[in-house]
Amino acid sequence: MRTLANRKNRAQRLLDWYDVHRRELPWRARPGDPYRVWLSEIMLQQTTVAAVAAYYRKFIARWPTVEDLAKAKLDEVLAAWAGLGYYARARNLHKAANVVAKQMGGRFPRTATELRTLPGVGAYTAGAIAAIAFEAREAAMDANAERVIARLFAIDEPLPGAKAKLLELGRSLVPEKRAGDFAQALMDLGAGICTVKRPACGNCPWADACEGKKRGIAERLPVKAPKAARPLRRGVAFVARDAAGAVLLVKRPEKGLLGGMLQPPLGPWSDDFPSAEEALAQAPFRAKWRKLPGLVRHGFTHFELAIKVWTAEISSRPKRIHLCHSRPSDAKQREGKGTQGSKPSLVSPPGSPSLGALTSASPGMTDMVWTTDLSNVALPTVMRKILAHAFDGERPRQAHAKSARRR
Ligand code: SF4
Repeated sequence: MRTLANRKNRAQRLLDWYDVHRRELPWRARPGDPYRVWLSEIMLQQTTVAAVAAYYRKFIARWPTVEDLAKAKLDEVLAAWAGLGYYARARNLHKAANVVAKQMGGRFPRTATELRTLPGVGAYTAGAIAAIAFEAREAAMDANAERVIARLFAIDEPLPGAKAKLLELGRSLVPEKRAGDFAQALMDLGAGICTVKRPACGNCPWADACEGKKRGIAERLPVKAPKAARPLRRGVAFVARDAAGAVLLVKRPEKGLLGGMLQPPLGPWSDDFPSAEEALAQAPFRAKWRKLPGLVRHGFTHFELAIKVWTAEISSRPKRIHLCHSRPSDAKQREGKGTQGSKPSLVSPPGSPSLGALTSASPGMTDMVWTTDLSNVALPTVMRKILAHAFDGERPRQAHAKSARRR
């Protein structure tokens, strides 16, 4: 009985704190709108609030309803997502919008269990949408909430093993009313007060109930299992520009790492860089390729990538190009896992390609484009880094340099 009263009391204290100190976030402007809650929660997966805000506003302005998003082309969604990372989220976003708009009559499911049937919606996201949009008594345990709960109850079992316990404890605190506010309050407390380093316990509504603080171990919690070292993959990229200044981009295979996104032609990724001779054999076509000094580094979730960049200025576009895509060695690997080279494929360029528009290609062939407008295409951050490196190394034409550096 006393425990229950304690928990109610804790929930109320947190809600009182939230009523005064809540963060003003763009997705909170219209509470209870499941489309906006879902969109923001997908964007916030492994991404900071600061990075998401501008993307969220852009998506809402362009696709104000789930039906609008479902009607968009996947390439448009990927292009709008470019720079936000973890691109499988954008593909799943588009798929889920189609499921809701076409199979569910435009209405989102209301329970966490049903929400989990949507592509890209895992346990945390389902709990967050159910609580915030529908006031279901669900816990939304993101990294912030896990940290707060681990400290409040002094749980020193390492993550990720402790996740189930933290979820259970988080759930036990959810009040009967205002479950959505409680979920957001926990996130805000973790983001602003119970921070990773030096938590501001003096300003915390749970200071007198916090076991971690009482025992002087709060800052060491949650304990995390040591991460495996990330392997380093190496490869080469080929940045070609024609007489009009258009850059050759090709589309990655739909499945796997950065699926469906654009890139300059790349060689396979392996443990070592290819020799100059091997690198030239991977080039998309014959030209006066020049290797730039330095390299581009990028971190994916499970591996690091180092790319050497070759560039060429050409007077006319080649009739055929030769591609050696890097793709995940295992189709079941999640985005961000290590990749291996795949067999080269031959791709015919379009007869009269239009700048800024993808060519249509037969099934099994890779789309390609020569474009001067890099600001509006689905180029992930790593590929933008490669282009910026290429342009920096070759006294860039002004328009290209600006586009490549925009993000
Ligand atoms: S008292 Fe300190 S450690 Fe405990 S929940 Fe509050 S901010 Fe976190």
